[in-house]
Amino acid sequence: MLRFAPSPTGDMHIGNLRVALFNYIVAKQKNVNFIVRIEDTDKERNIVGKDTEIMEILEKFALHYDSVSHQSENLHIHQTLAIRLLEEKKAFVCTCTPEQLDADREEAQKNKIAYRYSGRCTYLGADELSRLKEEKTPFVVRIKTPDTPITNHDLIKGDIETAPNEVDSFVILRADGTSTYNFACACDDMTSGITLIIRGEDHLSNTPKQKHIKTLLGYTQHTDYAHLPIILNNEGKKMSKRDDASSVKWLFSQGFLPDAIANYLISLGNKTPTEIFTMPEAIEWFDLAQISKSPAKFDIDKLRFINRKHLSRMEDKKLSTLFGFADENIGKLAKVYLEEASTINELESKIRPIFTPKDFNNEWSKEMKIIVAIITNAPMFDDFESLKSHIMQESGLKGKNLFKPLRILLTGANHGPELSDIYPYIKSYLLEVAS
Ligand code: GLU
Ligand code: ZN
Repeated sequence: MLRFAPSPTGDMHIGNLRVALFNYIVAKQKNVNFIVRIEDTDKERNIVGKDTEIMEILEKFALHYDSVSHQSENLHIHQTLAIRLLEEKKAFVCTCTPEQLDADREEAQKNKIAYRYSGRCTYLGADELSRLKEEKTPFVVRIKTPDTPITNHDLIKGDIETAPNEVDSFVILRADGTSTYNFACACDDMTSGITLIIRGEDHLSNTPKQKHIKTLLGYTQHTDYAHLPIILNNEGKKMSKRDDASSVKWLFSQGFLPDAIANYLISLGNKTPTEIFTMPEAIEWFDLAQISKSPAKFDIDKLRFINRKHLSRMEDKKLSTLFGFADENIGKLAKVYLEEASTINELESKIRPIFTPKDFNNEWSKEMKIIVAIITNAPMFDDFESLKSHIMQESGLKGKNLFKPLRILLTGANHGPELSDIYPYIKSYLLEVAS
């Protein structure tokens, strides 16, 4: 079983989407379940509605999941498991005050050594619980430091060994009884039987802690980990909220297609057999082992190129509907404009003016009016050549004096693709267009 475990704390980042795509693809390849777990235990950082937004994005990418849950629903399980570790003396109760811990941290800083928990409370076991509760003494639960190094063979990053003191006696239950991120995550992965965890490399340092938790809980099922390298912006820095293109929502708002975004994110730092592909194709050949260990740079021009390719592959009729038409000719028209547009928005900005009443306030207004009069009284012309010769004949206009006003009339723009390429798709709207 594989999972996608987003936190509802902001707009979905392309790095998260990449994680979701990879988990989904591998689940399909292995023919196992793919579940979604909303990691909503950090109440301060949760943003209302972000969980629904995440689900809507998954829907847009057709990343169908077998189940979805909220981590906060599992709190009682986390607590039960923490108590079990306490009873088995694999965890202990810690009553250190924030002041004590701060002093320890300062001391470590002064001695220029990394801070580790002092071990002050290691002897406080489960039998102290009722007394502490009675006395109303605040306490947290800490897991005991492992005895031996934690080793992990990451499918992308390779072998990583973590020393026991680096894992440390870290907190698993906070003073308010809620579980910490690492504990919640390890417990949930364990109880739902996750066998492969694909996630961002920002979680690499959490892995030994989570492995340690699962070991102490007696979990014997092997779990594989694959940590994906971060995505860098133009300046070579980690793509952050400040980079617009890091937000999936922003990419949609710019008119990028889900198929193209998925194609691009799967290609990032990867070797793919073809440049342009669909999700079902990716499921055929995707191989985690091909993913580069080093960060990949986000290149919006590459995404634009891929988007253009997906737009040109789209069924004419479907493409038409993006611009509010049911007529496949408008899809064909849009494809002509792909020579100068790469996104739905850019296409829209080319197609909309064609069907908008034209502005006659320009140097060609006289000629435009003459042409409109001719077109209004003309029979329908099948091809652009016949239309053109008819107008020439009737008006005596030629060269620039014919083509400039005619182009503005037919397209609402001064420049663009050959009118003869556009005409076949707009001819049945001619009276509406040339007005
Ligand atoms: N909730 C974490 C995040 O959004 C993911 C944790 C995980 O995949 O293990 O970064
Ligand atoms: Zn303590």
